[in-house]
Amino acid sequence: MILPFPPDRIERAAHQYQSELISFTQKLIQTPSLPGEEEKIAVLVQTEMHRLAYDNVTIDSFGNIIGLIKGGNAPSLMLNGHLDHVATGDPAGWTHPPHSGAIVNGAIWGRGAVDMKGPLACMIYAAAIIKKMGITPPGNIFLAAPVMEETGGVGTTHLTTHLHTDVAIVGEPSHNVLRRGHRGRVELWVTFRGKSIHASMPHLGINPYFSLAEFLRNLKEIPMKKGVTFDSNVAPTLIQTDQTSPNVTPGEIRLTLDWRNTPTESPAEIMEKVQTALNRSLRDGATGSVALATRPFTTYTGKTVEQSAVFPSFELPADSPLVQLAQRTLSETLGAEMPVDVWQFATDGGHLMAAGIPTLGFGPGDETLAHTNREHIRIADMLVALRGYIALALTDWTNALTN
Ligand SMILES: [Zn+2]
Repeated sequence: MILPFPPDRIERAAHQYQSELISFTQKLIQTPSLPGEEEKIAVLVQTEMHRLAYDNVTIDSFGNIIGLIKGGNAPSLMLNGHLDHVATGDPAGWTHPPHSGAIVNGAIWGRGAVDMKGPLACMIYAAAIIKKMGITPPGNIFLAAPVMEETGGVGTTHLTTHLHTDVAIVGEPSHNVLRRGHRGRVELWVTFRGKSIHASMPHLGINPYFSLAEFLRNLKEIPMKKGVTFDSNVAPTLIQTDQTSPNVTPGEIRLTLDWRNTPTESPAEIMEKVQTALNRSLRDGATGSVALATRPFTTYTGKTVEQSAVFPSFELPADSPLVQLAQRTLSETLGAEMPVDVWQFATDGGHLMAAGIPTLGFGPGDETLAHTNREHIRIADMLVALRGYIALALTDWTNALTN
């Protein structure tokens, strides 16, 4: 037994806060919080943390919320759950309105239910319940609720400049299965430049479409990285041209590539591969270039930053002491052997690992429902996650970090 507290005590404490947890989750879902518009939900989360007797609640210049439950001198833990969500799409396509928070057949419905207001609520309550149980956790517990994860992690990237914990847990939905990494995502712009001309005399211009056609053929020939856990892949997604008329050839075409990379494949390496393929593809005097897709982002607090669409990948080895300790803790708490897996999508965990914080993933909910109009989370799954988070927050990570 590695748990400092018996699982049934954790279960009783979790059970006691069940109805409060559910109604708070409904309130989170009923408060829309698109990236850059998290002001209202930030107030809701801060108010709840104060009500739950967090020892300290602060908000940084980007609008990230950081709640603290004070612990002892053992390694500190960050529980990380973003405040924002993707757009709802046409509300008519939803079985239950996207901001209803309706409870149907034991599940809470709405945008953000699994990604990730349900998991966030569980993490906020887990840390608070430990204090309410009268227990001082081994180390400080920081509940970080960052902004703008869905647009690339501007919030967590900034968070890591002023908050460094010894371990982090990202609560993105994982079916309550322990996660130890994911691939990264690198978004690239490949630009083809030619000479625009009236379509009735194409021989006088340089039509970049023919270079693009060659490039798409060559793109398929780029060798993809093969890893133990992950392979990389690339997909062309968007095409934009500088023309709007059907009878004019474009002077410029921009192709967007979505590249999912393994932890050992750097953005510089990817850009070099794409550049080589591009150089072989240019025809008729066209020119071209490769760049990381970069956009300005503005937080609800008015901070504007230019950030490249690079979501780092990360991978903790399955036999790392940290993964194994988390696995044993969750197995004992939840009464069944905890599997370990990886995520298919990118999370803020990549930014945390890039900042030197060893990161694990664990969260309630079916991740395949994220970003869909069927998004909902089973209350039973949330209660399992709540117990898991309490146990993880009561874990002393000292030996796992020094081994
Ligand atoms: Zn998410």
